[in-house]
Amino acid sequence: MTAPWQARVLTLFPEAFPGPLGCSLAGRALRDGKWSLDVRDIREHGLGAHRSVDDTPFGGGAGMVLRADVLDAALAAAGGDLPGICLTPRGAPLTQERVRSLAEGPGVVLLCGRYEGVDQRLIEARGLSEISIGDYVLAGGELPALVLLEACTRLLPGVMGGAASADEESFTEGLLEYPHYTRPAEWQGRRVPEVLLSGDHGAIARWRRRQSETLTRERRPDLWAAYLAGGMKPPVASAPAAP
Ligand code: SAM
Repeated sequence: MTAPWQARVLTLFPEAFPGPLGCSLAGRALRDGKWSLDVRDIREHGLGAHRSVDDTPFGGGAGMVLRADVLDAALAAAGGDLPGICLTPRGAPLTQERVRSLAEGPGVVLLCGRYEGVDQRLIEARGLSEISIGDYVLAGGELPALVLLEACTRLLPGVMGGAASADEESFTEGLLEYPHYTRPAEWQGRRVPEVLLSGDHGAIARWRRRQSETLTRERRPDLWAAYLAGGMKPPVASAPAAP
């Protein structure tokens, strides 16, 4: 049996975990041993009677910075056998491609920042990758860590019910996903697109593809440009925007 995918998290708020990852499919997979979660309190490596973990920034300015020596001790105790990631708004954006590559590896060590962030020397000395979950600033790295872990663990073998749905969802081919509909076929005067009721699987696939392309072109010009540049697949004739 292969070793389960490992998540190690360094945080000042261990009680934030597993949080929402304790429910639904991720929670069941965690209980079933398909992945493991080892949460470590950075404060255990704090200095002095008050277990201090931070200090004022050199050069002045507001807030406090997490100390390199404290974090280094915490990372050393967590082991160096997994890729190390520091969650930070300055990092490379977390993409589905990155998620897939992390999920295919042995696991991750995640460092959750707080206050003004982490002493840069620690990131360099430990060769940590810097990852951001979006262009906004949160109070700490715990929610970003949960986001990254949920995105990765749902791709692990045997975690998600229908593996096919992971192949078709947004970003997998560089496109946003087509819209979904379920019963009733008519609701408040709105009918489901007829093609979806036709039973013609070829026509349905073509309709979905066109919807994906149209949505991506209209909502995410950045993804659309990358899709065209990558020559992923020639676009089909443009479709009306999704309702
Ligand atoms: N001074 C930092 C800046 O302007 O880039 C913001 C620090 S933020 C208040 C504290 C911590 O929250 C960061 O060290 C990081 O771990 C986490 N964080 C906040 N926003 C984030 C985001 N968009 N992606 C990843 N981590 C984030």
